Amino acid sequence: MRGHPNVTEFPLLMTQEVCKVYKMGDSEVHALRDASMMVRPGEFLAVMGTSGSGKSTLLQILGCLDRPSAGKVFLEGQDVASMSDQELAKIRNRKLGFVFQAFNLMPQETAANNVEVPLQYAGINRKERRRMSVAALMAVGLSDRVDHRPAELSGGQRQRVAIARAIVNKPLVILADEPTGALDSKSGVEVMAILQQLNGQGRTIVMVTHDYNIAQYAHRVIKLSDGSIIADEVIENQKQARPDVVEVAAAKEKPHPRREVVRVQPADSFEPVPIEMPRKRIEEEPTICPRCSSENRPRSRHCRQCGFLLNQTDLGRDNVRARLVGDQVRCDACGVRNRPVAKFCGGCGSSMDRSYSGL
Ligand code: ADP
Ligand code: MG
Repeated sequence: MRGHPNVTEFPLLMTQEVCKVYKMGDSEVHALRDASMMVRPGEFLAVMGTSGSGKSTLLQILGCLDRPSAGKVFLEGQDVASMSDQELAKIRNRKLGFVFQAFNLMPQETAANNVEVPLQYAGINRKERRRMSVAALMAVGLSDRVDHRPAELSGGQRQRVAIARAIVNKPLVILADEPTGALDSKSGVEVMAILQQLNGQGRTIVMVTHDYNIAQYAHRVIKLSDGSIIADEVIENQKQARPDVVEVAAAKEKPHPRREVVRVQPADSFEPVPIEMPRKRIEEEPTICPRCSSENRPRSRHCRQCGFLLNQTDLGRDNVRARLVGDQVRCDACGVRNRPVAKFCGGCGSSMDRSYSGL
C-alpha cells in the first residue's frame, strides 16, 4: 500500500461479495451488489459516490450496524455473521468509533458528557470517564469547551465533539458518514485536519463522502455506483488540510498571531495528542442551519433564512428533554413552558415524552 507509512497489508475490515437488498412492500432496492473491499490498518479510506449509490449502507455493514443480505464481512479476520447481536454491540462499543453528518449529540448535555457516552456503556467509572473525555476533547482541540453544550458550539466544533466521542474508547477504526456534510467548507477543512492528524497517529479511518474534494484528503478512494464498487484507487497527492487551517488562522489573528502547538507522538501510540486549533477563527464561525444550510451568527437561536430552531438540531425533535419547573414543563429546546401532561412542546413541536430532568 502506497501513500502511508503505517499501513500494512493485513486487512482490518473486509467484505466479500456483499449484497444488501431492502424490501419495500412488493419492490426491492438493491443498495449493494457484490461489494468486495478491504480496509487495512492505518489507512485513511474514502468511500465516494452520488446520493443513493450505497455508501451509507456499506459503512453500516462495515460498522456492524447492519447485516448483509448475502456475502461475508470480516473484522480482524473474524466472520461477523457468526456473532450474536450482543457480541456485535460489544464490538461496536470497543472497536469502532462512529461519526455522523448530523453529529448526533445530546443537546442538553455538555461536550464532556456527550463524549463519555461510550465509556458509560463500557462500564468505566465516573472519574476515569471524565479524565478520558477531557483527554479526547483535548485531542480535537476543544480543551476549552469541555462544559459547553452543543448549542453553544459552532457546527465544526460540534463535529469535533462527535469525533472526540468516536475516539474516546481508542477504537480500531473510525467510521465517518459524510462528516463534513453539514459544515461550511472552512469547518470541513478543519474536520479533515483533525481526521488526518488522528490518522497520522495510527488510527484507521473510513470516511463516506459524495464530495470529490473531501475524498482527496484520504489515501485511497473506493467509488460506488448503483451499489457496485466501480473503482478502487490510491490518491497519489493526498491533500493536506493542516496548512489551510493554519493559513486561515494566521490571516485572522494578526497582529497577535498564535503559534500552533503540536506535540509529536509515535504512530503506534493511541493516547490523544493535544491539538491547538486556531481559536479566534473558530469562535467566529457561523452556525450552519441543518435544514437550509444558511449561515447564521454563532449564537443565533433561529435560522435567519428559514426560522429553524438551531439549538435543537443535534438529535432532532424526538429527542428533546423536558424540565419540570414549578408545575410546568419547560422544553429544553426552545424554553417554552408547557402543561405537565404535554407530549409535544407548544413552542417548537418537540416530542417531550422522555424522562423529565432537573426536578
Ligand atoms: P448513499 O449513502 O450513497 O446516499 P444509501 O446507502 O443510504 O446511499 O442508500 C442506497 C439505496 O438504498 C438508496 O436507493 C436508498 O433509498 C436505499 N435505502 C437505504 N436505506 C434503506 C432502508 N432502510 N430501507 C429501504 N431502502 C433503503
Ligand atoms: Mg448516505
